[in-house]
Amino acid sequence: MKTFSTLAIVVLGGSAMQTARRIQARFAESRVHGLASRVNADIAYDDFGAHVRALYAAGTPIVALCSAGIVIRALAPCLADKQAEPPVLAVAQDGSAVVPLVGGMSGVNVLAREIAATLGVAPAITTSGELRFGTCLLAPPEGYALADIERGKRFVSDLLAGEATRIEGHAPWLDHADLPRDDDARLAVRVTPHIDDDNDSLVIHPRCAVAWVRKVNESVTERVRDALREHRLSPLALAALVAPMHAMTCDALADAARALHVPLRFSDDVPSHDIVITVANEPVDAQTIGRARGTLTVIGLGPGNVDFMTPASKAALVAAQDVLGYETYLRMAGPYRADQRVHMTDNREELQRARHAFELASEGRNVVVVSSGDPGVFAMAAAVLEALDEGHAMHPEWHAVKLSILPGVSASLATAARAGAPLGHDFCVLSLSDNLKPWDVIEKRIRHACEADLVMAFYNPLSKARPWQFDRAMDIVREHRDAATPVVLGRDVGRRAETMRTVTLGELHGGLVDMRTMVIVGSSRTRTIGEWVYTPRWY
Ligand code: SAH
Repeated sequence: MKTFSTLAIVVLGGSAMQTARRIQARFAESRVHGLASRVNADIAYDDFGAHVRALYAAGTPIVALCSAGIVIRALAPCLADKQAEPPVLAVAQDGSAVVPLVGGMSGVNVLAREIAATLGVAPAITTSGELRFGTCLLAPPEGYALADIERGKRFVSDLLAGEATRIEGHAPWLDHADLPRDDDARLAVRVTPHIDDDNDSLVIHPRCAVAWVRKVNESVTERVRDALREHRLSPLALAALVAPMHAMTCDALADAARALHVPLRFSDDVPSHDIVITVANEPVDAQTIGRARGTLTVIGLGPGNVDFMTPASKAALVAAQDVLGYETYLRMAGPYRADQRVHMTDNREELQRARHAFELASEGRNVVVVSSGDPGVFAMAAAVLEALDEGHAMHPEWHAVKLSILPGVSASLATAARAGAPLGHDFCVLSLSDNLKPWDVIEKRIRHACEADLVMAFYNPLSKARPWQFDRAMDIVREHRDAATPVVLGRDVGRRAETMRTVTLGELHGGLVDMRTMVIVGSSRTRTIGEWVYTPRWY
């Protein structure tokens, strides 16, 4: 049956806390999410709408302790895809009402019944088939797939109209359902991996077929489909595509698995025939066959606010089994599901973190490495490639890992956008940190950038360990640029504590900046208009 262990119980204020904790006690690993300004919960959020949308997108079951209307309005923009939605329920703050809203296919009514039982009330179930039979016939459990939703709906209306049904095949989850059963009935629930066009049956396919391919080329999808057809097996009964280990980096296989909607696994046990379909008596869990190709995805969170994280990066986080990064960023990137492993490390252990990421990914795990901003700007993407480069000879298995680097919104871009368009013409980005490069290189680059009249965006301007360098750097800039040159200071941009400030180069000094500040020094052309700072696109 479905499990709801990673439930998100979302509250808006303290008055719902007691009910929230009662529900939490019933579900292992569930978390109470609370509005940061009003309540102290397990996980804090700032914006209710954005938070529940993110949970929904992550497929997390949501129990919101507020009015159904608030939840519906918040989720309205995401409700198009009926197949993929997690269960969402509204529960009255005092626990007196449990209202399943969406997620019929993922067991919202099962969850509603469990919560209602915990609170000692009756759930507000509105699904007629469910009410009558005590189960949603159209939402079979994991490992099974409904052959045809339209036929399914007709079948349920026929039952509701008074007909009875037989059950053919093994359907253990229906043992306790309140179905009108009759061995001579016209209608049948048929559990079979085979194609079945009988209009009077509710056909449910157990995912019990596995396709083993030896010859790997562009036609894998077609050959698997042909082989299934030959055995009269439904494509929905396919549980996995398995190929030999040595074919791990072959893109055609990944395309085929995607086209067939099944996980791709690798094993040295693939038979020597071109293609073999095996059919088990029970649904097959693909995770138990061989292993997956590991992936390592390097993402950037943007400057801080979830709204500035790209959807591709969010999707990578949701899919991750292991998440690695500096503690501060990892906390920003949460919440995580109970099945995700989070590896927090110190900010300075970048290369070690990159190696660890490759080790996990080459075991077949889906690994995400998290940076702030853009991962390629003074961040983890370069460290990951450095680890790969240095491990080249010793770790050939790291090259079989599917590596991707996703772009993010870098702090200079976020700061520039808040201020106007200071980077509107040629500019450069520089890190003032001399941890990894000698100070004289930094000075030389600043002089050249000044001579080229580039706008300069400074990362890592100043830290306790580097107290004098910033003022020294700005003295060099002042040798070349007018004291009236606009300078933008963005601190904690995109985060709750954000401050923006514009000063002149003459006023600028180290006391105005720290490690959470982005400093953008204008060129000779940079100007202000009211509150805005911009660099025109012409000379
Ligand atoms: N990869 C990151 C940069 C990491 S270096 C990116 O692309 O943004 C860390 C430096 O980035 C900090 O010292 C600070 O100068 C800057 N920075 C990162 N996030 C910031 C934010 N939200 N506001 C202002 N500056 C930020």
